[in-house]
Amino acid sequence: ALSIGIVGLPNVGKSTLFTALTKKGGLAANYPFATIDPNVGIVDVPDDRLNALAKIVNPARILPATVEFVDIAGLVKGAAAEGAGLGNQFLANIRECDAICQVVRYFKDPDVMREANHTGEFVDPASDAETIMTELILADIQTLEKQLPKLEKEAKRDAELAPKLAVAKRLVEWLNEGNRAITMEMTDEERAAAKGLFLLTMKPMLYVANVDEDMLTEDLDPIDGVKPIPICAKVEAELSELDPEEAAEFLADLGLERSGLEVLAQAAYRLLGLQSFFTAGEVEVRAWTVRQGATAPQAAGVIHTDFERGFIKAETIAFEDYVALGGEKGAKEAGRLRMEGKDYIMQDGDVVHFRFNV
Ligand code: GDP
Repeated sequence: ALSIGIVGLPNVGKSTLFTALTKKGGLAANYPFATIDPNVGIVDVPDDRLNALAKIVNPARILPATVEFVDIAGLVKGAAAEGAGLGNQFLANIRECDAICQVVRYFKDPDVMREANHTGEFVDPASDAETIMTELILADIQTLEKQLPKLEKEAKRDAELAPKLAVAKRLVEWLNEGNRAITMEMTDEERAAAKGLFLLTMKPMLYVANVDEDMLTEDLDPIDGVKPIPICAKVEAELSELDPEEAAEFLADLGLERSGLEVLAQAAYRLLGLQSFFTAGEVEVRAWTVRQGATAPQAAGVIHTDFERGFIKAETIAFEDYVALGGEKGAKEAGRLRMEGKDYIMQDGDVVHFRFNV
């Protein structure tokens, strides 16, 4: 599953948000392993198209796509700058994530201490975000400096390592200028080589603004060029205690349609260039996740590796056709069911039935 590491300064509301995530109400409704790692919370990616499909096929269950959030404790100011650097466990946890989500404090509660800064303000999102980014950049510089001597030695023997060495050297300079690795211009080859350097700032970064309840519908200034996603951790914690009907009412009272966690899951999906295709049958209507640009066999492989290996073709109906024509039968009669081969590039919303050899 798509996984996102949650980081942030102390007292910004990470634990509050995470507790909401791992409570029953916040957990993906159909996730079969409810008691997995306590540092992992799973959220459904809401998709109205699932309901439209379900109306047509009346499945026993609906399974939305999910996003996994991982609580990455241990990032504090000076952690990388002083002493031994970030803990190995921290680095290991964060490296396994597909993206990083930084929680930034926007709520003003004077009763909650804030990591001291030069301004003494309770809220200073830009400075907090910069503090964390600096730690991540410093950690990456340390990671590279550890790898460089070995890489230099090996590159002398193995010419294929030359691009990796070159990009590592350029990255050290780039990071030392205070930039994130992901923003450096690289060729595709360099980018592939850079992946093997395990840098934190190569990962896409999302910002969550932990706001006061009355700021939930406000438009916030971008951080690092991206709009933060407003969430009130306290509200999420309360929502996670409610049953679905009560939760919907509570959200409506706040002028919202979805919980912050759901909005976050959707945003993460977009940020990472992911899209959904569907399978629809009496047993289940289900959303599956693929990269934009994935081929039909790759999509089949998301369901089962055997499907990819034995791929023959994909019987495909666009979501709009499927709904407008009342399902598979109607779409087929109208000539809207396509037989797609192994080179077909999946389109968002395709309703698919894979044919394969076992
Ligand atoms: P962490 O250190 O980032 O994990 O922060 P916590 O989740 O432990 O929150 C620190 C304190 O801030 C706790 O006392 C929370 O109750 C409080 N807090 C968290 N989110 C909010 C919020 O949205 N509004 C207000 N007023 N307080 C919050």
